Amino acid sequence: MRWEHLGEGPSALFGTETVSRRFDTPEFRGMTFHEVRARSLVNRVPGGSRAPFAWTVNPYRGCSHACVYCFARRTHSYLDLDTGTGFDSQIVVKVNAPELLRRELARPAWRGEHIAMGTNVDCYQRAEGRYALMPGILAALRDRANPFSVLTKGTLILRDLELLRQAAEVTDVGVSVSVGFLDRELWRTVEPGTPAPERRLDVIRTLRAHGIGCGVLMAPVLPFLGDTPEQLRATVRALAEAGAESVTPLALHLRPGAREWYLSWLARHHPRLLPRYDRLYANGAYAPTWYQRRITRQVHEFATEFGIGPGRPGEARRIRPVRSEPTGGSGHPEPPRQPTQLTLL
Ligand code: SF4
Repeated sequence: MRWEHLGEGPSALFGTETVSRRFDTPEFRGMTFHEVRARSLVNRVPGGSRAPFAWTVNPYRGCSHACVYCFARRTHSYLDLDTGTGFDSQIVVKVNAPELLRRELARPAWRGEHIAMGTNVDCYQRAEGRYALMPGILAALRDRANPFSVLTKGTLILRDLELLRQAAEVTDVGVSVSVGFLDRELWRTVEPGTPAPERRLDVIRTLRAHGIGCGVLMAPVLPFLGDTPEQLRATVRALAEAGAESVTPLALHLRPGAREWYLSWLARHHPRLLPRYDRLYANGAYAPTWYQRRITRQVHEFATEFGIGPGRPGEARRIRPVRSEPTGGSGHPEPPRQPTQLTLL
């Protein structure tokens, strides 16, 4: 593997030990990893947040999955990094995350509360293939029997099946996979760095085959691109056939940062939709209540049709062996008001 040492990275927030490396291999071409030694890892969700959890762990900042609609983009500006392509390719890696987490979980003041992962950026993005921080993080949580949940679009989670199972023997563990739609053409342009939707269905299938129940955050549902009843039904049907235990739909949000990036993508790929988006998001970041209700109702109806229960936002399910018989055919929490904590994975 070839890499170029670029010297100091975003040291203002992370200290002068930061080392930046740019890779020149096919797997990581064009990407720069800023390796930092974080000072703290377990973050409290800001007060006033809608998130149904209080604590998060994020070993990375920035995300090579590069979803156009990602509303963690704005958090990159806090590091003086670009929120567009910079968010996709300038990844901050907290290389000391596992050891730091062990120390923080051992503090007398820590009460063993639920920790949510994958809430800001995807902890199973491509960088994880190189840095392998999650095995140490999962082992630390397992050893302290600390409840946790993981939300991801990444197939790399399958590498850690055994650790997930071990953790589930001693504490509550929730696993959710994010699949908002099946359309391959849409996927290629709007989620260009993610595993294809059918590969994420394979993840659900494999988790289930190993006795690990998995919920699905069906997000984002993209207005006028992936929201017809036929499209919603096909997605829910595929999720059910893959073995999803629950499905939680979430319509697209367009917060500042993500909004500009998404609308410029829309102008390039679907310019005729711009006026309709202007009207739908005229009042801010959220689609109108009637629209959100329509999506939720239809997805829940299809989930019932295909024999999977609707998920409750933010629920953490204890991983357990699934029943051997078929289920009959066949996440995610409300986002916070603060910009730093939850992302549509
Ligand atoms: S939405 Fe999730 S997977 Fe996509 S870029 Fe953002 S953090 Fe990564």
